[in-house]
Amino acid sequence: MGGVMVNSEIERIKKVREIITSIIEKKGRDHLYDLTGIGGGFKLKKTDIDVLDTYIGSAIFSEKLNRAGLLHLGGNPTIHRAVGFNRTSSAILSTIIALSKDIDKVIHYLPKRPSHPSIPRSCKIFNIPYFESDNIDEILNRIDKNTLTVITGATMDHKVVDLKRLKKIISQCNEKKSISFVDDASGARLRLLYNQPPALKLNANLVVTSTDKLMEGPRAGLLAGDIDLIDIIYEEGLKYGLEAQAPVLAGMVNALESFDLQKLKEAFNRANSIDLTPLISIGIKVERTPTGFLLTSLSEEESIQLALKLLEDYGIITITAAGMPGASKTLRIDFCSKDAYRISNEYILNAIVNSYREIRE
Ligand SMILES: *Cc1c(COP(=O)(O)O)cnc(C)c1O
Repeated sequence: MGGVMVNSEIERIKKVREIITSIIEKKGRDHLYDLTGIGGGFKLKKTDIDVLDTYIGSAIFSEKLNRAGLLHLGGNPTIHRAVGFNRTSSAILSTIIALSKDIDKVIHYLPKRPSHPSIPRSCKIFNIPYFESDNIDEILNRIDKNTLTVITGATMDHKVVDLKRLKKIISQCNEKKSISFVDDASGARLRLLYNQPPALKLNANLVVTSTDKLMEGPRAGLLAGDIDLIDIIYEEGLKYGLEAQAPVLAGMVNALESFDLQKLKEAFNRANSIDLTPLISIGIKVERTPTGFLLTSLSEEESIQLALKLLEDYGIITITAAGMPGASKTLRIDFCSKDAYRISNEYILNAIVNSYREIRE
């Protein structure tokens, strides 16, 4: 196979950062197209900049984040609170640290395995038995008062949970007094496309979402839920430096306040209507996602090779190329980003077809 070889996750990340830097230097930002659905963004108001001091900023923006965050996640300010972490992974780690003394296992339902690595990795640190399944019957009978029950709202590959199943697991948790925690990193917004209610409206105890997945905020984790739980989890986060600092909190607030469901719906419509026959006709298997599509027939190695070619030759950034260690390697194109609006379906399909031919040579 032609193209760059990378032998480890960190080598891949370093290589990709080099390529991105070189495209920026030689051609400019306009020649990069972030199609990860993790476009990020950092909107600040002029008045925000005057109050970014460590303690002043945290005071002001944590209160604003509480308000905007609860609105986004369907919370009620009299019983719920929302707080900011550096990443969704940090919020998950803090939750497991805080609950580790009170639970004897973590069980995790997701619409399709595997889980995002942050959940099993966090359990491993504390030797907490961890069980995950995409079969609801294997989950329901394991729920008891000593479990933390995690439900993924949408997987890394954007498979969305079925609402009836989500409700059933949460109600079983309430009945058995198990803490329910929805990993809604992208699901908090993807589920809206299917008219699903936010997690706190469904009586989940905890929910986390990422403010840069399918919205234009910094990479950060917004955790919300029952006030007593949030207080102990946030305190653990503060001890280990996992909490978001004032500038990130400000970016989160502005992203939440300017979140536009209409833009997401446009990406949804584009994903529904794009003609994928150019890919199918050269033997690539594809699957539509709510806001894009996946190439499902490539091996992990082929996916990485293809992703690196797409970046080097066409400026297209994917999670397969640039994602964190352990993130899904299935090549996914997402139309929910500011860059996606600048390029045509033809450009994207042509880039994939040509790159695929080259790595096959
Ligand atoms: C992205 C994602 C995470 C982790 O988010 P980070 O910002 O990378 O920490 C966790 N769970 C799911 C389902 C995700 O999609």
